[in-house]
Amino acid sequence: MPGFLSDLTGSFSTSSAQNPTVAIMEAAYADARMDVRYLNCEVPPAHLADAVRGAIGMGWLGFNCSIPHKQAILEYLDELAPSASITGAVNTVIIRDGRLTGENTDGQGFVQSLKTITDPASTNMVIFGAGGAARAIAVESALAGASSITIVNRTGDRGQELAALVDSHTNAQAAFAPWTPGFSIPDGTDIAVNATSVGFHPNADATLDVDTSSFTSGMVVADVVANPPMTRWLQAAADAGCTPLTGLGMLVNQALVNARLWTGQTLNADVMHRALQQALGIEEKS
Ligand code: NDP
Repeated sequence: MPGFLSDLTGSFSTSSAQNPTVAIMEAAYADARMDVRYLNCEVPPAHLADAVRGAIGMGWLGFNCSIPHKQAILEYLDELAPSASITGAVNTVIIRDGRLTGENTDGQGFVQSLKTITDPASTNMVIFGAGGAARAIAVESALAGASSITIVNRTGDRGQELAALVDSHTNAQAAFAPWTPGFSIPDGTDIAVNATSVGFHPNADATLDVDTSSFTSGMVVADVVANPPMTRWLQAAADAGCTPLTGLGMLVNQALVNARLWTGQTLNADVMHRALQQALGIEEKS
């Protein structure tokens, strides 16, 4: 006889209504015939403590925390995984025996997605941006063995701070480069990543102020923007003979890592991918 008590996972954020992760997780749990649910919860900052206590009290396996809780959650945690500790930001919490461990799987999702095309170990990377996504990607790529990481950011102070963080806490050599108009990607770059929000729906006509003639064939060019998947940045890269990597893979792989941390099971990435595309109402062209 089937039981009537599901294991619970979910997300705490505000605003939460446009977050498609619930669609990915519920589709993958159902596909694996697991009695686990994922609840997308609207949690304002003043209620974060209650939400965390509620999750512990109800025996949740864990939860994601998204904007604006990625740093505020730290005070409720007992332990931090390395990437969360270095970035100082947590997007996934695992609850075991009432103890809370914080992980940052944004970067892990990116690196897993990247590894479907190339291994970041011993590569030279250029990352545009220095916000939450860029921090996670830079730290995780460094932990995955990237040799050098150049951070390019509109606001110099934030870019310098991220470069210093990666340089001092990992084995990668990291440096900041000012974002000069028509920025030229340095010779010898293996992987170039847009980790800014430029090109995100509904501003899909926007693209990075980068000289696209500095793309070289053989370069892997990635985007964190998942909607639309084929951004102008990626289209220009593909036109120049580079290998484009959309932001969909980062989202799916992050969800895959989260589910593994919570349940110990590896869910079906194809099911997640299809659920995400359906949820966003998009067709991936690549
Ligand atoms: P943040 O607000 O933390 O950072 C935004 C970054 O974009 C900053 O570096 C900012 O530069 C830069 N930026 C914004 N506008 C411009 C512009 N016009 N020109 C140049 N740089 C600009 O955001 P997040 O890092 O959290 O998110 C960034 C993007 O990543 C979003 O689109 C988000 O949806 C996406 N994302 C995708 C994920 C996935 O799984 N695919 C996961 C997480 C995020 P400055 O410092 O100068 O302000």
